[in-house]
Amino acid sequence: ALSVSNLTKQYANADHPVLDDISFTVPKGKVFVVVGPSGSGKSTLLRTIAGLEPIQGGTIALDGEVIETGRPDSAKAGRSRRSSALRTRIGMVFQSYDLFPNKTVLGNITLAPTLVQKRDRAEAEREAVKLLERVGLADRKDAWPHELSGGQRQRVAICRALILHPEVLLFDEVTAALDPEMVREVLDVMLGLAKSGQTMMIVTHEMNFARAIADHVILLDGGHIVEESDDAHAFFTNPNTERAQQFLRTFE
Ligand code: ATP
Ligand code: MG
Repeated sequence: ALSVSNLTKQYANADHPVLDDISFTVPKGKVFVVVGPSGSGKSTLLRTIAGLEPIQGGTIALDGEVIETGRPDSAKAGRSRRSSALRTRIGMVFQSYDLFPNKTVLGNITLAPTLVQKRDRAEAEREAVKLLERVGLADRKDAWPHELSGGQRQRVAICRALILHPEVLLFDEVTAALDPEMVREVLDVMLGLAKSGQTMMIVTHEMNFARAIADHVILLDGGHIVEESDDAHAFFTNPNTERAQQFLRTFE
């Protein structure tokens, strides 16, 4: 399980924290969905969990092992101090598919396993091809990123994260920049991953998708979790708090 305890995050020069004493657990094999208005700290939350941002309070733990501890004086440090070995245990896919333009699809997916994990190239390529088959792109392994559609690039980005076998995979609005006809193919890959037991944290504005995939959902606002539920259907159709009702109405 991924356990976040009393996480507090404040950017340098900000007068109040973006995330204020946040706690939750993502059990192994479950899908944890985060929704909330723009600026509520959803991306910041994922980035702190991925080790891309230092935290000023609280802890982040994987299966009971603390991988990040808050230090009050760390706001000005650009990055967390997490080791690269710990970093690879949590994967992240971003809104802007940031593939390396000068590498083929296969080159993009095999870069980190061969360079960071020192895995054998032939073995990494075999696994990359299997992953590409899984997302319906086996025939594009030698293509360059500029030859792919946005939805295809995003599926390659998911393969690039999966080849590192992350214990938890984080998704930050991965369909937000896509043309509508390409959203479905990416959401379907995510549904397949959920079915296969991949532990995931998903930030999304796709409320129907969130309702379909979530084992647990939280609404983030003003640095706090204002509502959470293990029953995604109930949360999206009949939330308890006024704030959640108001937030969900903006999607009607
Ligand atoms: P959106 O739905 O628009 O993506 P979000 O919920 O992901 O929003 P964040 O990007 O986490 O929100 O931003 C939360 C708050 O932190 C905002 O007020 C934002 O301006 C601020 N913030 C984000 N990144 C930084 C940064 N690097 N330095 C200072 N402040 C930042
Ligand atoms: Mg964001």
